[in-house]
Amino acid sequence: MKIICIGRNYVKHIEELKNEIPDRPAVFLKPETALLIPGEDFHYPSFSKDIHHEVELVLEIGKHGSNIPNTEALKYISHITTGIDFTARDLQDYLKEKRLSWELSKAFDGAAAIGRFLPFSDFSKSANLNFSLDINGETVQRGNTSKMIFSFEKIISFVSTYFTLEPGDLIYTGTPEGVGPVKRGDVLTAYLEDFCLLELKII
Ligand code: ZN
Repeated sequence: MKIICIGRNYVKHIEELKNEIPDRPAVFLKPETALLIPGEDFHYPSFSKDIHHEVELVLEIGKHGSNIPNTEALKYISHITTGIDFTARDLQDYLKEKRLSWELSKAFDGAAAIGRFLPFSDFSKSANLNFSLDINGETVQRGNTSKMIFSFEKIISFVSTYFTLEPGDLIYTGTPEGVGPVKRGDVLTAYLEDFCLLELKII
């Protein structure tokens, strides 16, 4: 099983980090050990003082495929949920400045939180889905898939040109604006439309 993440997929988030608008999806991987499943708390790691939340929609792949055309792509998604791409922003900034891979700042233990999965077929309008993140009951990020630069179809088609997709693979589809720090004691809850799918505590 692999965790594929798309970076820089929402224009306003690209602007807030002062990055360039990409002509192709930015792709990175997280190992399976990064997974934080429902019921687990996020342990604030010792190597960072600036862990950021990035709420994202996460797709679960339901069948094997490579070189998947746009028109077929949605058929490969079995489930959807909300997730958090935890990022050690201080470490990422340091690595970017040194022109090194940012792997360490994104792929550490617990950095890929996922919520409870719902069948993708429950959501017919995948190009118009609302999702959001609350911290201690206050909404800090709000996204809608209509604002994505690369749609679910494009993401699946693009990544499957390079990686064979297998059942159980997860794809984090990018974060909207509003990323920011978390601290010990915070309770994070993430929503897809009206469904609260993820709840975790920072410890
Ligand atoms: Zn992200």
